[in-house]
Amino acid sequence: MRDGVTNRAGVAGEGGGSATAARTPVKTFQAYLPPAHRTYSCIHCRAHLASHDELISKSFQGSQGRAYLFNSVVNVGCGPAEERVLLTGLHAVADIYCECCKTMLGWKYEHAFESSQKYKEGKFIIELAHMVKENGWD
Ligand SMILES: [Zn+2]
Repeated sequence: MRDGVTNRAGVAGEGGGSATAARTPVKTFQAYLPPAHRTYSCIHCRAHLASHDELISKSFQGSQGRAYLFNSVVNVGCGPAEERVLLTGLHAVADIYCECCKTMLGWKYEHAFESSQKYKEGKFIIELAHMVKENGWD
């Protein structure tokens, strides 16, 4: 986490908001995280999703229960961003899904409108119901 968030324009990378960011759907290579890391995998197809090192918070709530906030994820596709009012106020969020089995996993915060929530911008929520700890680490 960096201090003094100066909210640079366009930091989200994809230039959020464009509803038709048609990316080529053909992607056959799956990303793998370093085996030494504790990783979370898709519970449905076992594709790697995130490293434990990228975990920011476990105290989020998804539609199906607990959800984790990650700094970065892999093998995850992103739908169009849309504005939603969440428990913590208005956000622009995009649904995210497993690129290997296409299961919806959670969402990405594209934009937060309240300054206290800015830390979530560009971060990913994955619901616990869709993750499994690779190799059962604890
Ligand atoms: Zn999957």
